Amino acid sequence: MSAASGPLVAVSRCLLGERVRYDGRHKLAFEIISRLARTCRLVGICPEVEAGLPVPREPAHVGGTPLRPRFVDNASGRDHTFRVMGWVEQRLQRLEREPVFGYVFKSGSPSCAAVTKVPVFTAAGCPVGRSFGLMARAFRERFPAVPVADERLLADPVELERFLDAVLRLARNKGEG
Ligand code: SF4
Repeated sequence: MSAASGPLVAVSRCLLGERVRYDGRHKLAFEIISRLARTCRLVGICPEVEAGLPVPREPAHVGGTPLRPRFVDNASGRDHTFRVMGWVEQRLQRLEREPVFGYVFKSGSPSCAAVTKVPVFTAAGCPVGRSFGLMARAFRERFPAVPVADERLLADPVELERFLDAVLRLARNKGEG
């Protein structure tokens, strides 16, 4: 589906149409993926499944605090932060080597929210602020110059072209365009 050449762009796997969400469904963003795939090589990433969580699985939220967010199951309160962040660190190292020039995240996810922050809840269920998803937060910190977006933002064709321009510009600047 993606171009044989062109800069590498990471995409949340559920946006590619893969059934990796907690409820066993996907969130295919067909128009966005089709447009990006004409120019870029796409690599799918699902932090939760690739860290070893099953499909389907219990829905989760961001717990802890905005400064120290944690990945916590909604009903059981199980905390998967150690497992998820161990995987995230390894994946970020690979993205650095590949290298990656953009990332389209799924909005509203405790792992992938990258444009609009999601609420952070205490163990008692009280909101204590907002945070990006754990993967998105770590990615933004590690790659501050790499454009990030989500499917809500890119539903606007102007924003989609703007994102693509930013990806291509970064790749050119790094000698890969
Ligand atoms: S939002 Fe992220 S963690 Fe959740 S299913 Fe999609 S890719 Fe996986």
